Amino acid sequence: MKVTVDQETCIGCGLCAQVAPDVYEMQGDKAVVAGGEVAEDKAEEAQNGSDQCPVAAISIS
Ligand code: SF4
Repeated sequence: MKVTVDQETCIGCGLCAQVAPDVYEMQGDKAVVAGGEVAEDKAEEAQNGSDQCPVAAISIS
């Protein structure tokens, strides 16, 4: 599973990191994938965080 946060699109609202703190964390005023990768058992959490993003900056494949 690959999760990426588009750094250009992210507006730094912090919602993804609030909803899914095991997957996303804030780094300065942008969100990043915590630890650089996402375990398969965090797929639902990753999706939940992505669903909250107001600018659709998160892609999951
Ligand atoms: S929810 Fe979207 S815009 Fe907000 S911090 Fe996360 S990636 Fe960035």
